Amino acid sequence: MFAGAKVIILLGPPGSGKGTQAERLSSALGICAISTGEMLRREAQSGSALGKMVQDVLSSGQLVSDNLINRVVAHRLQQADCATGCILDGYPRTVAQAQFLDALLEKWNVPAPVVLNFEIPCEEVVSRLSRRRQCTECGRVYTVSTLSTETGILCDRDGSMLVQRADDHPSTIRERLRIYEKNAGQLINYYRSRDYHRVCATGAPSEIADGLMALLGSQWLPSLSPVVLAEPRA
Ligand code: AMP
Repeated sequence: MFAGAKVIILLGPPGSGKGTQAERLSSALGICAISTGEMLRREAQSGSALGKMVQDVLSSGQLVSDNLINRVVAHRLQQADCATGCILDGYPRTVAQAQFLDALLEKWNVPAPVVLNFEIPCEEVVSRLSRRRQCTECGRVYTVSTLSTETGILCDRDGSMLVQRADDHPSTIRERLRIYEKNAGQLINYYRSRDYHRVCATGAPSEIADGLMALLGSQWLPSLSPVVLAEPRA
């Protein structure tokens, strides 16, 4: 990663739309999007010894160890496509991971990250995740409007089958949310006094994307005026 690279961290519960916005920001800003969940799912599918261990953790809704994910991310950030920066979706998830990332960026003289915290009510997350389906081929994510249409849904992009992620079943969703809540407070406190922005994640994806672009534009192109993305907490 070059000194001067831009790093954007997307915080927020599973199902808050981080993946969708990471893809949009990636195309708009020309920096790569990295989903640690997606990297781990790929490892799990590979059938390697590590993949089998990872699969057990994924299907339980728990987190893989800080040590493992830190090593995976440190390796990923040294790939050529991260030279000008990256959007991190799903990392860091603990304060130990945030501290590890800060140390890495400091070592590489990369400026401190911009942190976007996606806020969404818990009931909305459960509803979204139980309706979420993913293409088995390209990984594109969809939300089905009614579960009765589940059979026969195919990907718009490549016609492959859409399936429900093993960890999007109700009992695992609740466990993932519990783990998220357990770590979120400390992680937000860690970043709150820095380049940290709250994002109201309940709107339409295109509206959220416009808001994010306006915010990032106002940071990186100071002539644009900033926008308020979420009401201040009472
Ligand atoms: P996601 O696709 O971001 O919801 O992640 C799916 C699963 O991957 C999580 O429930 C965790 O088991 C694992 N995972 C992803 N990112 C991390 C991380 N930064 N630290 C630990 N586990 C992770």
